[in-house]
Amino acid sequence: MDTRALEVSLLNAKSLCVFTGAGVSQESGIPTFRGENGLWKQFRAEDLATPEAFERNPQLVWEWYAWRRELIHNAQPNAAHRALAQIESALSMKSDGRFTLITQNVDGLHQRAGSQNIILLHGDIWVLRCSACDFQRRDESVPLHPLPPICPACRSLLRPGVVWFGEPLPSADWTDATHAAEAADVFLVIGTSALVYPAAHLPQLAKQHGAQLIEINPERTALSSLADLFIQGKAAEAFASIQIHIE
Ligand code: NAD
Ligand code: ZN
Repeated sequence: MDTRALEVSLLNAKSLCVFTGAGVSQESGIPTFRGENGLWKQFRAEDLATPEAFERNPQLVWEWYAWRRELIHNAQPNAAHRALAQIESALSMKSDGRFTLITQNVDGLHQRAGSQNIILLHGDIWVLRCSACDFQRRDESVPLHPLPPICPACRSLLRPGVVWFGEPLPSADWTDATHAAEAADVFLVIGTSALVYPAAHLPQLAKQHGAQLIEINPERTALSSLADLFIQGKAAEAFASIQIHIE
């Protein structure tokens, strides 16, 4: 894997926007939705991460989330998460430097690695929110009791604080993400199949506004032909091989 061109782009970036998907956490042991080990029991993610699935069988959906919470709880950020946090602090030393991390991940590993300016486009698996009222709380307990959890305010079911397939993105976060994409001179996409819209529009938007588009993924995706630089490889391996000294 040749990562010299990536190193040069990161070194020269003034406004860097990074967009991550499930692939950035794969080397931490968190399964992606569409890759190997993407199935839980015999179910596909697309059949569990929906409002309809929750309505039909909240217990089943919660068992899947409980399993994922446990996996994440036992996982650690990898070299890619850590490098992104370092790049952010290095860029913040530059007077005109700007860094935004937009993630589709709900696992919190970027935050645990120290990333600060982060947009959680698809929510946060550690947040529980009521399916009926405005109640929400952060709860990192593993295992969760009871399952499914109940709203203390109205006794309805609590649901995971994530965005399910078919649901709109939080509008303020989407606005912030589009602004960051438009302002970027380098837009780095890591570990996303770029199939989930509207999130997958962001790289195209950045490119239309003049950003250099870089992609890191072991497989080619719908974005790869649009990318100015495609690094075929795993995220943590790619970052482990580059030196980050931004002056
Ligand atoms: P996806 O499962 O559709 O695609 C994963 C992508 O990562 C694939 O293109 C794959 O080739 C690539 N990949 C696999 N291993 C990699 C590695 N080591 N380094 C770099 N790339 C690697 O995931 P998606 O595009 O993020 O979209 C699915 C949705 O699933 C998102 O909305 C996200 O919220 C959710 N999700 C989140 C998590 C998490 O929080 N860790 C995990 C699974 C799914
Ligand atoms: Zn409630």
